[in-house]
Amino acid sequence: MLQFYNTLSRKKEAFIPIEEGHVRLYTCGPTVYNYAHIGNYRAYMFEDLLRRFLLYKGYKVTQVMNITDVDDKIIRDANAENVDFRKFTAPYKKAFFEDLDTLRVQKAEHYPEATGHIDEMVHLVEALLEHGYAYRTEDGSIYYSVEKFEDYGQLANINPGEMQHSERVEADEYDKESIRDFALWKAWKPEDGDICWETSLGKGRPGWHIECSAMSTTYLGNHFDIHTGGVDNIFPHHENEIAQSQAATGEQLVNYWLHCEHLIVEGEKMSKSLGNFYNLREVLDKGYAPEVIRYVLLSTHYRQKLNFTWEKLEEAAAAIERLRNVVTHLENVSGDGDSTIDELLEERSEEFESTLDDDLNIAGALGIVFSLVKDLNQRISDGAMTNSGAVKALKTLRQFDEILDVLESSEKEQDVPKEIQQLLQEREEARAAREYDKADAVRDEIQAKGFIVEDTPDGAIVKPKK
Ligand code: AMP
Ligand code: ZN
Repeated sequence: MLQFYNTLSRKKEAFIPIEEGHVRLYTCGPTVYNYAHIGNYRAYMFEDLLRRFLLYKGYKVTQVMNITDVDDKIIRDANAENVDFRKFTAPYKKAFFEDLDTLRVQKAEHYPEATGHIDEMVHLVEALLEHGYAYRTEDGSIYYSVEKFEDYGQLANINPGEMQHSERVEADEYDKESIRDFALWKAWKPEDGDICWETSLGKGRPGWHIECSAMSTTYLGNHFDIHTGGVDNIFPHHENEIAQSQAATGEQLVNYWLHCEHLIVEGEKMSKSLGNFYNLREVLDKGYAPEVIRYVLLSTHYRQKLNFTWEKLEEAAAAIERLRNVVTHLENVSGDGDSTIDELLEERSEEFESTLDDDLNIAGALGIVFSLVKDLNQRISDGAMTNSGAVKALKTLRQFDEILDVLESSEKEQDVPKEIQQLLQEREEARAAREYDKADAVRDEIQAKGFIVEDTPDGAIVKPKK
């Protein structure tokens, strides 16, 4: 039985979709004011695991991921660079989708952009004004009155009654030391330049939180199954989404709220503001294949912090290698046979699924995969694997790979032919033996064949010359 830890109830609950066999899923997407870092991709990778496992279990999935293409940060940075904000966000949006492809994150069904849904946001704010949950300030902005919403604080587990209720907050992002009325609609200010919309609410632009309320309900209805994000989204973003949507529609917004923990570096959240971040490209440039990064981001349970280290990448590369090796062996097997393979495969398949059923326990599921790999290797080396057994084992491994998606080697790796990789190996051996002339000669040979050698703290890598 599939179950998820629901942030709203703070316990694991059996998952039952509203419509049988169909899951409606909203995943908060990026604010495209910069290149996403690998911490962000941890969140998107967790959502990829969730999506793939729902599909694995036979559900139809309708997933929506919004693109925040107007907010405080975008306006600040686009105006500082003096470029049109759409021009400003375009390269980051493009890079985001390229990165998702690189990491083999499956496509959502819809990627709505905030600037394409201003009308829906205006309608929502109008409903909130009408129902008495919103009020106008002197400058023409519109704020949400959190004290009007009885359940405010339920998701983040805070009790507004016990908290200091300080005044309004204009910024989209703020901490939960004190709860505040937040902006639904921000009246135009000179700093906004020409980033504004003329609407029935006046001239201005939406607050960040209303963007997600409008886009989720437009594509998924007033009440849908799962909403996800990183833990930093719980408050205020998701708390505010609930307050806005439920006050406007009178219906419960979401049944299951799932949040993934942060990717951390030396104990701190990887974030742009702390400056301790790597973009995907920076890690790729160090010579790690995309699927190795994918594996690292995927393999820690989503509710645990993931401590990012270079050793983890090495371990992931070794794990993938082990998987690919057993596949190669199975493809070339010729043994006499053993009748217990069906049972083994069936058991491991069931365990793999039931382990993931338990709140996406991927670390446990990988344990099962590698216990199977060990058994298969044993049978192969004992000569106890038949062709038909190997075909069945390959089928099981490929089923697991519907979730993992690491078996197929990426093009980047194939860009460096085996011959060159062997030369690199020779050079490393020569260097280890202090035969530097030989090492240099091999490096020259590699370069003559169109590749460059780069020495990194984690060893030498080769790349095609640009
Ligand atoms: P942002 O662009 O900061 O709004 O973040 C986009 C998504 O990435 C959100 O769901 C965040 O919760 C998530 N996120 C940001 N930093 C991290 C991190 N270090 N680890 C995991 N997820 C993160
Ligand atoms: Zn959101």
